[in-house]
Amino acid sequence: MAARRILIVGGGVAGPTLALVLAKHLPSSQITILERSITQSELGQVVDVEGPSQEILSRLHLLPLLREASTREQGIEVVNEQGELVGRLPAGQSGGASKEIEIMRPRLSEVIHNATNEHENVHWRFGKTVTAIEERLDDLLAQVSDVEKKETQKEEFDLVVAADGLRSDIEISSSRRA
Ligand SMILES: Cc1cc2nc3c(=O)[nH]c(=O)nc-3n(C[C@H](O)[C@H](O)[C@H](O)COP(=O)(O)OP(=O)(O)OC[C@H]3O[C@@H](n4cnc5c(N)ncnc54)[C@H](O)[C@@H]3O)c2cc1C
Repeated sequence: MAARRILIVGGGVAGPTLALVLAKHLPSSQITILERSITQSELGQVVDVEGPSQEILSRLHLLPLLREASTREQGIEVVNEQGELVGRLPAGQSGGASKEIEIMRPRLSEVIHNATNEHENVHWRFGKTVTAIEERLDDLLAQVSDVEKKETQKEEFDLVVAADGLRSDIEISSSRRA
């Protein structure tokens, strides 16, 4: 059975990218993204979009928007003491210092976030997190918590994905019987 109620914890880069993939392939699903920050973070420096990430974002037809929002760095030029050009490393060259798409992390996040807004079945909830997830026989029961008010409510999902970054602390307990 295709998953219907999907919870993605973490609205950074991976979470909303997955939401886009799921919205495309499982259009009847309801996808909820929980992000503990109150708004999308404006923190971060340049991120290179290359390799598998470029392939995935290409399949999501986001490369033109990402190029538009990129730093548009042309590459690196080396000059001598007289200011004369002695070498050039154009962006996008294999092994070069500048990648084809270099983008500030907040802009990367913004482009992907905006793309999710075009799908009615993707729902963002800022200032929220999960404090517990219990795997039951037929579904998962998540305690969704408001970060500021500390209020918690129990919600049922068919699939929960932890996309809360490198320091992920999402744990799933199980009440399933063997
Ligand atoms: C603010 C910030 C700035 C960064 N700047 C750079 C940079 O300049 N250059 C670079 O190469 N990489 C940077 N990174 C790292 C880079 O974005 C990630 O390593 C990469 O994009 C992987 O994305 P991700 O979605 O897996 O994780 P992240 O981008 O880390 O996103 C995880 C998201 O989950 C949210 N979250 C975490 N825990 C919970 C929770 N319990 N409940 C709900 N939400 C939760 C976080 O607020 C965050 O929005 C930055 C990450 C962050 C969060």
